[in-house]
Amino acid sequence: MNNNKKIIVITGPSGAGKGSIFEAIMKKHHKLLGFSISATTRPPRKNEENGIHYYFISNEQFQKFIDDGAFIEYIAPKDKPQRWYGTLTSEVDRVLNSGKSILLDIEVVGAKNVKKVYGRNSLIISILPPSIEELSERLRKRGTETREQIEERIMQASLDEVALHNIADAKVINDKLPEATEDTEKLVLNFLTSKK
Ligand code: 5GP
Repeated sequence: MNNNKKIIVITGPSGAGKGSIFEAIMKKHHKLLGFSISATTRPPRKNEENGIHYYFISNEQFQKFIDDGAFIEYIAPKDKPQRWYGTLTSEVDRVLNSGKSILLDIEVVGAKNVKKVYGRNSLIISILPPSIEELSERLRKRGTETREQIEERIMQASLDEVALHNIADAKVINDKLPEATEDTEKLVLNFLTSKK
């Protein structure tokens, strides 16, 4: 890979606010950071476009990418065929070759695999909710999940937190979004300007 370019991963449990932090930093630092378009088997939501937000592909296409070794990292649980996600090597190369570093918003397993591939050229930042109770409250208020789905997410969040403990280079507690965004931004900029 292009040696002076870096990959920064924002990860953490669903509902911790990593999406909002990711978007704010991308918007502010679009000259430094590029967006790698992931592939997914989930259907597009309203306002999402193929080739802009994601490459929306079939499970067969996704499997072919796996077989061809086209992913840097991916997650493809057999029991959730509509929740497969992966970062394409071609996308990462496209962004790095344009002279930018990359900011990824991916889940915990993916973050772990990016670290394996990019080692010290990558920084893993985990965004965590102040507490499991607060996370539960936020998910409930968001109103997009059923009670069972919230329970499943809470359980997953606890597991993610344990997994992240071992791999994250830095941790940001998202108590108040503006502060958490600022803290994350500082970590990103420090890493980008450090000499490894
Ligand atoms: P959504 O379906 O809401 O866009 O994303 C759901 C989850 O998938 C988020 O936690 C997001 O971070 C994760 N995700 C998005 N793209 C990728 C990817 O390429 N690889 C992995 N491992 N996770 C991803």
